[in-house]
Amino acid sequence: MGNSVKIYLVTTNQHKLREIRQIFGSEILAAQIEVNENGKTFEANALKKSKAVKLEPDSIALADDSGLVVDALGGRPGVKSARFAGPNPTSEKLCKKLLRLMKGKGNRKAAFVCNVAIVWPNGKHKIAVGIVKGRIIGEMRGEHGFGYDPVFVPTGYKKTFAQMSPVMKNRLSHRGRAFRKVERLLSSL
Ligand code: IMP
Repeated sequence: MGNSVKIYLVTTNQHKLREIRQIFGSEILAAQIEVNENGKTFEANALKKSKAVKLEPDSIALADDSGLVVDALGGRPGVKSARFAGPNPTSEKLCKKLLRLMKGKGNRKAAFVCNVAIVWPNGKHKIAVGIVKGRIIGEMRGEHGFGYDPVFVPTGYKKTFAQMSPVMKNRLSHRGRAFRKVERLLSSL
């Protein structure tokens, strides 16, 4: 992809911005726009966010909408992951609420899902999806990351995302997978 194309990422989440800048090879400009994420799907919210930027020619907008989908909770918290424990909850609050709901549940299966919308100035768009499967453990472990990282262990590993280095998390994560797809897609154009 040509160096002259400006890439905007719509987010107000500094953790996500840091992770995405670590994953993505090209320079990313942050567009800190508040968007009411009231869509019913990750895709709808990602599109709504990325369409909030007024794009000049030779620029594109990206936005990620992501969340945790838990089997035993019928897919919750899902698109409501950020607001699951009230407005602007801490990671600890989110994890504690999830652990309380998961108490006594035998099925610990969960997945992190990330949808990235890419929008061009002519309104055309594409969606890239990244998923990582894993399980919810019984207590919080680790200091890295954000959100539900301390209670999520990806399949095939023993550590939670919060116990892994940022490089390791990005290698496995829903966001890493989705943004690497975006990079491949953009470089194929
Ligand atoms: P949104 O995409 O801004 O709606 O927020 C997604 C929410 O899902 C975040 O606020 C976190 O609570 C959770 N989430 C998304 N990705 C991750 C992750 O990589 N680790 C931990 N929690 C995440």
